[in-house]
This record gives sequence, structure tokens and C-alpha cells, in this order.
Amino acid sequence: MDILKNYLIHLCGAENVKIDEPLAKWTTFRVGGPARYLVLVADKTTLVRLVRGLEYIECPYFILGLGANVLASDLGYDGVVIKFTGHKIEQNDVFVYADAGAKLGAVVNYARDHALTGLEWATGIPATVGGGVYMNCGAFDHCLGEVAVMVDVLVHGEIKTLTGKQLAFGYRHSIFMDEAGVILGAYFRLGRGDKTEIQQQMQAVMQKRARHPHEPSAGSVFKRPKDGFYVGKVVEELGLAGYRVGDAMVSPQHCNFIVNMGHATCHDILQVIYHLQDAVEKHTGVLLETEIIFLGRIEN
Ligand SMILES: Cc1cc2nc3c(=O)[nH]c(=O)nc-3n(C[C@H](O)[C@H](O)[C@H](O)COP(=O)(O)OP(=O)(O)OC[C@H]3O[C@@H](n4cnc5c(N)ncnc54)[C@H](O)[C@@H]3O)c2cc1C
Repeated sequence: MDILKNYLIHLCGAENVKIDEPLAKWTTFRVGGPARYLVLVADKTTLVRLVRGLEYIECPYFILGLGANVLASDLGYDGVVIKFTGHKIEQNDVFVYADAGAKLGAVVNYARDHALTGLEWATGIPATVGGGVYMNCGAFDHCLGEVAVMVDVLVHGEIKTLTGKQLAFGYRHSIFMDEAGVILGAYFRLGRGDKTEIQQQMQAVMQKRARHPHEPSAGSVFKRPKDGFYVGKVVEELGLAGYRVGDAMVSPQHCNFIVNMGHATCHDILQVIYHLQDAVEKHTGVLLETEIIFLGRIEN
């Protein structure tokens, strides 16, 4: 029997170890072939032990949040995909701590329930705390880096707490994109607010977001290359709304979204990405950089 499989079952329990698990089930694009193993890990101690063990045997692994920004290969992933489901949220004065596996929406609601302001803009962003911090997700001129002041992280087997500048937050950027690390939990510094006002702001954000496409996607595909350059608008002006390869389509509702109209493959989505990059570069001279994260072997 496979030693790795035994190890995963020993550590995480057979019910939490999935073999040849389709990544399409775990990503919001609904795309991706099988992961050799996908393990669900509910507590930080097990997560730390697991990652240390996998690093020791040099087994490739990938930490998956909600999979809301991931394009997984049609060929799948020949390693261990780890889904941390720890979701503790705690308050200490104006600080809120949340496990990396907690949903960002749960943190937003928790803040509102405790009359803490500073996260209303994040209403409706599909993310875990880990994925949100990693991406420094943002909306409406705000980003998580404004309030995520400390992050507990496992780096090369050691647990550390990173603060302030060490986190290197920038536009859709954090230190975790440059240096490997498993985010265990984050501390958000919020302000005292009024519950009713917070709720009203959350509703206003929700109304704006209701205009976004509802088909499976990974949100905006490309980063904004510079201030004032709105990718969706440029793509629309080029007449590419509705541009389609197989079931992957540029959403006419928001042209920086590629949506899965049914049975899109990673290959289909990549063809749309390349076409948009070519068209935008020819027209504007700007090469668009993708915001989405690729998982597994990506073939052209
Ligand atoms: C409908 C829709 C709307 C969206 N709107 C927005 C928006 O308004 N603003 C925005 O910024 N984004 C948006 N997105 C994209 C997505 O929500 C964000 O990028 C979000 O931060 C992804 O979080 P996640 O938990 O799904 O991470 P995943 O997509 O699962 O992972 C993203 C990256 O984070 C890493 N990661 C996850 N957890 C950990 C961890 N614990 N430790 C280390 N690394 C980790 C993964 O390895 C991966 O590299 C949208 C997506 C969709 C589908």
C-alpha cells in the first residue's frame, strides 16, 4: 500500500483523505482534473504536523482555500491538496483573530455582530482568511492588507508571526507570493462602529456585487495594470464581450470575468486568456498579467 496514503490516513483520518479527487469540485471555476490526494484538516496542530511531514519527504502540496481564485489543470495535481477547515474567530477589544480556514464572509459578519467596522467592503468576496490574506483581496478601493496586521504562518517547519511591513501587502500581493509559507491565522485591527450603519454599508456593497456574473468563475482574471486602466472596459471596447472557446466565455456582464458556461476545461479558459492578452497588447501595448493562480501542470 502507498506509504503516503497510509501517512495521510494516520494523520487526518480515512474519511478526510480523498483519492483522485476532481479539483473541479473544489474550485469556483468548476474546472480541474484529479488531485492525487485531497485532505481535509480541521485543526492547526494536524495542519502543522502534516506540512512538516510532507516537506520532510519532499512531497509537493498545495493549500487550497475556497478555490475562488484558482484555475486547476485538466491533468489535475500530482501531490497533496490541503484544505484547512479550521474556522475559529475570536475578539479581543478591536482585534479579531480568525483561523486561515474561516470564511472571510464569516469574519465580516462577526465584525458586524460585535459592532466593529473596517471590513464592510469585503462583503460578498468568496474567500477564506488564508486565501484572502495570500491574495490581499480587495474591492471598492480597500484591501485586506489595510486591516490584517498580524499573520501566524508556518515557514520551513517553524511557526512565526509576521507583522506590518513583513507582510509586504501591495495590489493583489503579499509576502506569501514571494516566500513559501502556510498561513495559519490572521489578526484584523478594526474600529468601533455602529451595528446598524455597518449592516447598511454591507447591504450597499451586496447590491453593487449583485451585478457581477453568477456563472462559475474565479472573479477578475487579470490584474489592473495601472491606475485608471479597467481591463473589463478595454476588453468590451475591443468587442470581445461574449468571446468564447468551448464553454469558456468572456462574461458580457463584466468583461474581466471568464465564466464557465457548463463544461469548460482549463484548456478552453487558457485559450480565452491568451486571446484577450494578445488583443489587449496589440491595441494598447499593455501585456495583461493574470490575477488567478494556476494549480497543476498547465499546458498551452
Ligand atoms: C464571483 C467572484 C468574485 C470575486 N470578487 C473578488 C473581489 O471583489 N476582490 C478580490 O480581490 N477577489 C475577488 N475574487 C477572487 C477571490 O475571491 C479572491 O482571490 C480570494 O482571496 C480567494 O480566496 P480563496 O480562499 O478562495 O483562495 P484560493 O483561491 O483557494 O487560493 C488562492 C491562493 O491562496 C493560497 N492560499 C489559500 N489559503 C492559504 C493558506 N492558508 N496558506 C497559504 N496560502 C494559502 C493558495 O495556495 C492560492 O495560491 C472573486 C472570485 C469570485 C469567484
